[in-house]
Parts: sequence; structure tokens; C-alpha cells
Amino acid sequence: MKNKNRKRVLVQAAIVVAALIGLTACGSKSKSSDKAAPAGSKISIVATDTIIGDIAKNVAKDKAKIHVIVPVGQDPHEYDPLPADVSATGKADAIFYNGINLENAPGAWFTKMMNNEGSKAKAKAVAVSDGVDVIHLQGKGESSKQDPHAWLSLANGMIYTRNIAKKLEKVDPKNAAFYKRNAATYEAKLNKLHQSAKNKFDKIPAEKKLIVTSEGCFKYFSKAYQIPSAYIWEINTEEEGTPEQISTLVRKLKQTKTPSLFVESSVNPKPMKTVSKDTGIPIYATLFTDSIAAPGKTGDSYYGMMKWNLEKIAAGLEK
Ligand SMILES: [Zn+2]
Repeated sequence: MKNKNRKRVLVQAAIVVAALIGLTACGSKSKSSDKAAPAGSKISIVATDTIIGDIAKNVAKDKAKIHVIVPVGQDPHEYDPLPADVSATGKADAIFYNGINLENAPGAWFTKMMNNEGSKAKAKAVAVSDGVDVIHLQGKGESSKQDPHAWLSLANGMIYTRNIAKKLEKVDPKNAAFYKRNAATYEAKLNKLHQSAKNKFDKIPAEKKLIVTSEGCFKYFSKAYQIPSAYIWEINTEEEGTPEQISTLVRKLKQTKTPSLFVESSVNPKPMKTVSKDTGIPIYATLFTDSIAAPGKTGDSYYGMMKWNLEKIAAGLEK
């Protein structure tokens, strides 16, 4: 009996303490509501890959904590989310994913994760590619499937930026003007790079214009900058670098004057090395396609990776 009473007193004391803590927390919140948001009140963002995460960082700056699911250098087409990814997704205020068949195909990892999370999480999710002029895959029986690599055209990167800003304005209306301003500044920066790339590529002779990569991820880029592309395999979800895929590309390249090959940072370089050996065309550079570079390295942002890609492709094709 005595013991039970003591327990009750302790429980009551705990409730009072909790209430006091609650009051203090509320008090400090209301006092600082017109100042910069305190660290604890940052919104939580989840981005499926490093490119989307970086664009979100440019829009949200210090107003958000950003959890990126697929780490630098890894393939966002195929991934197994870790418990930390699932937990961050469950708690997020906004979830940004690429869409158009990157991580959201039926049965793909993001689709599975969101199905487990349920409707609450789904309502927080935005496909940043919304509004992009979608290109479809070209392989046999693949024309019904969308090509996800829209971000490789800076014009689409600007659409991603606007979609991210729009969602942040909605989930954190008190900072709406801040997000809008950051998005406009960032978009202008992307646009400047986009225009300078167009000018650069205009000067390259037509017979040298061909971007050769392992995965056929440059269709949006090709359309934006009027440079055709060729590849070993069309998308990372299919078999990568079979002898047949390699010999098809080698045959094609032997009929061109392509001066350079490229390889991507997030795929195995071996198949492209075989293509290089069989054609005698050197691999000129590693490009960033499905991931930005590691922090501190050249290309460790969406802007940085695109600048690197545009410069290396122009220099490689001018050879
Ligand atoms: Zn890809």
C-alpha cells in the first residue's frame, strides 16, 4: 500500500515536471517567433538522392534538416533503405523524390518504402520532376517507360528547384518569402550556366557531337544541347555491360568520328574500358550523372557536377 502511494506521488511529480518543461518550451517558442527559427524548430526534409538533396539545400538553407537516402556515388535506381532512412521518412515534413521511373517504378525501393509508410507519408511526398517534358526509353518494349534522368538538363533542374520551393512554402509558410527568394537566386545561377553551355556546344562541329556513356542517361541533356548520345545499356535497372551490348556500341562507334568516351561516377567502369579497347577511342573523363561528388571534391553539388560535366563534355568533343 505504502509502495503504491509512493509510486503515485512520483508519477504525479513527473507529470508536474513534464508540464513545467512543456510550459517553458512553449514560452521560449512564442518569445522568439519573430526572430530566426531556433535550431529545434527546423523543418525536416528527406530527399531520395544527392542531387535532389543539394537542390533542396539551396532552397531551404539553414531552415531545414535534410536527410539524403541514397549516399554519394551510389545508384539511386536500385537501393535498400536503412532503418535510419525509414525513420527519417516517417518524421519528415516534406519528402522529395525524382519520380519518372527512377525510384518510383512499381516494385522499386521508394515505392515499397512509401507503401509501408502509408498515406500520411505519401501526402508529404513530391515528385520534383513534376512538369518536366518527359522523354521515354527507346529499347525494345521499353517505350512505355519514362526516362528518369531529367536533371541532366539544367532547364529541368530549374523546374526541380521551383517544385521544391513550392512545397517548402506550403509546409513552412512563415519562411515562404525566404524559400521563394533562394529559389529565384539559385535558378538564375543555373540558367546562366545553361546559357553558357548552349553557346559552348554551338561551336563544336556536328560530326564530333556524340556523348557516349555506360548508361543511356543523356537523353534530356541531348535534347537541351542538341548533342546525340549513345550508350552500352539503356538504364541501370537492366543488365549492365553484356557482351552483346558492348559489341552493338562498338559497331556503332566504328562508323563515327567520335573523339572521346565518358564513364559515370556511379557505375562500374569496366564495360566502358572494354569499349575503349575495342574501338581505340579513349575515355576522356568521369561524369557525374546519378550522384554528385563526395563532399569537398569537384562536383560536390548539383551546380558543380553540371559545370564539370558541361566542361568535360565540351573539351572531350573538341579533341
Ligand atoms: Zn541512371
